[in-house]
Amino acid sequence: MAELPPPSLRLTIDADVLADNWRALDAMSGEAKTGAAVKADCYALGVDACVPALRDAGCTHFFVAHWSEVEAVASHVPPARISVLHGPMNAADAAYAQQTGAAPVINSVSQARLWHESGGGTCQLMVDTGINRLGVSLGDLSDPAIASLDVDILMSHLACADEDNVMNARQLAVFKQATEVVPHQSASLTNSAGIALGSAYHFDLTRPGLALYGGVPRPELANKIRQVARPEAAILQTRSLSAGDSVGYNAEFTAQCAMPTGVVSLGYADGFFRSRGGEGSHLLLGKTRLPIVGKVSMDMLIVDLSNAPSLREGDWLEVPFHLPDVAPNSGLSQYELLTTLGQRFKPR
Ligand SMILES: *Cc1c(COP(=O)(O)O)cnc(C)c1O
Repeated sequence: MAELPPPSLRLTIDADVLADNWRALDAMSGEAKTGAAVKADCYALGVDACVPALRDAGCTHFFVAHWSEVEAVASHVPPARISVLHGPMNAADAAYAQQTGAAPVINSVSQARLWHESGGGTCQLMVDTGINRLGVSLGDLSDPAIASLDVDILMSHLACADEDNVMNARQLAVFKQATEVVPHQSASLTNSAGIALGSAYHFDLTRPGLALYGGVPRPELANKIRQVARPEAAILQTRSLSAGDSVGYNAEFTAQCAMPTGVVSLGYADGFFRSRGGEGSHLLLGKTRLPIVGKVSMDMLIVDLSNAPSLREGDWLEVPFHLPDVAPNSGLSQYELLTTLGQRFKPR
């Protein structure tokens, strides 16, 4: 195949900032070790760009959701340090765990049985303490299939860690009960936000994801977490509009006076949905704001270049991506802003 020409979208990952974010969360985790949620291709920032930096910073526990995510992570860290949150759904999943050495997170009595049938061995156990997502109920802890597991990490997951909610203390109390019933090597309760709830929540291991990648789920993290990902898009074409000219689908925007515009290579498939192109939305040239005009339309959007009239085709614009600032007006959560970054941002 011919060599690819340069792309019109690019994503820069600052691995030093990523490592700093992990260290900041590790410091906040006190005595507890700090792991990393690296599922969904490190929240779309790329396993190859992120996992080595986390490993070199000192992270030893990596969490993915799917079995299909093990291999990419295992090219950077020993498989025994990877835990698979969805657990085994069938004999093939359990066999894959046995063959690769990745640790299954057991979420139910039936998953525990599958694990035993595959030969068993060390595993993680997720206990449900009130989120009612994945996890074994407290009442099932005495089931022989669960009681006979060789549990390395006993874990649970908080439903409301990003807010001050009575659920947090309630889940903490239930998790403490579970730690007294289930023999385990280490206990783990909190995600990024939960780390800020204080040492009572830290146990032996914390499991941040979002905040590693620049997300700020609670104000306590605001001064500690910095932006990791910097998406940029190129201008494909420039135009000069006259007063009365309209722009894009449904002619939603009409120029009130003559203005230069730029057609930018950025659209839905790149995670830039129409909801992100509303009132006040803009791309950046350094600190200069270039307002987005009209509807985001499939693979393109249009910016008003009045503040930077010398820009030309091929010039790069930055997509604002300081997650806590961008999320409120985007119609998306910080998680969604990250994980919907499209394939076309990936280096090839
Ligand atoms: C995704 C996930 C995490 C990380 O959560 P963040 O809110 O992204 O920090 C931790 N634990 C479990 C079980 C998860 O699914």
